[in-house]
Amino acid sequence: MTPRFRLLGDPVAHSISPHLHAAAFETWGVPAVYDAYRVDAAGFDAAIRDPIFAGGNVTVPHKLRAAAALDESTPDVTATGACNCYWHEDGRLAGTNTDIEGFARALADLSVPVRGRRVLLIGAGGAARAAAHALVDAGVERLDIRNRTREAAETLARRLGPIARAVDGPATGSYAVSVNATRLGLGPADALPIDLDCVDTEGILDMVYAPGGTRWVRAARAAGLAAQDGRRMLVHQAALSLARWFPTREPPVEAMRAAADRALDEGRS
Ligand code: NAP
Repeated sequence: MTPRFRLLGDPVAHSISPHLHAAAFETWGVPAVYDAYRVDAAGFDAAIRDPIFAGGNVTVPHKLRAAAALDESTPDVTATGACNCYWHEDGRLAGTNTDIEGFARALADLSVPVRGRRVLLIGAGGAARAAAHALVDAGVERLDIRNRTREAAETLARRLGPIARAVDGPATGSYAVSVNATRLGLGPADALPIDLDCVDTEGILDMVYAPGGTRWVRAARAAGLAAQDGRRMLVHQAALSLARWFPTREPPVEAMRAAADRALDEGRS
């Protein structure tokens, strides 16, 4: 039987994930299918437990709900309270969080060392939580968290301990990397997460992705900074999901990256 996988979220129509997985299945010559399914909170539990599907991914706004639905969780789910990748195992629902390692790999691709250095994290939602765990694991000296709602930044900083603190007002000091983990950049008229004249940073990593790179990424590159949008992280978290579903196969990361670029930059999103 053809294994079927799907992305559960609301909305999902904009997602390029089906293109990435189709490229992987084609490269492998495996007759599997992956599609995107829009589901609301009321239908979510039935959708994630549907045995027709071998597994799938979960996106906004259901990652916390998915974590709560699991029978088996990895430590990455426990650490973040969020699940973005699930599968069915002997009648049980298992899940993990591939955003943490996906972020860590995207950070490695940026080639700006963060160990022993300060990092600025903008945002305090689910994506910021995954990034924060990856950054602490990467050995940052300190994590400054800046968020529109300061209380959420304080809550995240408290979860992480003395290595992290909530900040607002003008940015002071210098950062190895500044990370956008907000939704800013999804809309073409959005403000920048932080004006690059207001922060001393060697590189930026934007978790949002857009054709040609987000406006923040384009501004950073124009200023001579190392900069990546969220497509690398998207590809890595997708590859890590595939590795869970097909443990004996090596995910074809390059083919998936090319599919992401095609889907975004040729407007097939
Ligand atoms: P979320 O839990 O809803 O959090 C949204 C964050 O954005 C919060 O910090 C929120 O601040 C902030 N925000 C929203 N609108 C804002 C505005 N107008 N001005 C300033 N801040 C604003 O969402 P999430 O799951 O963390 O996702 C955040 C982004 O990361 C999304 O764009 C998502 O697509 C992206 N993401 C990318 C990947 C990838 O693989 N590339 C993976 C995961 C997520 P408040 O607390 O003040 O509301």
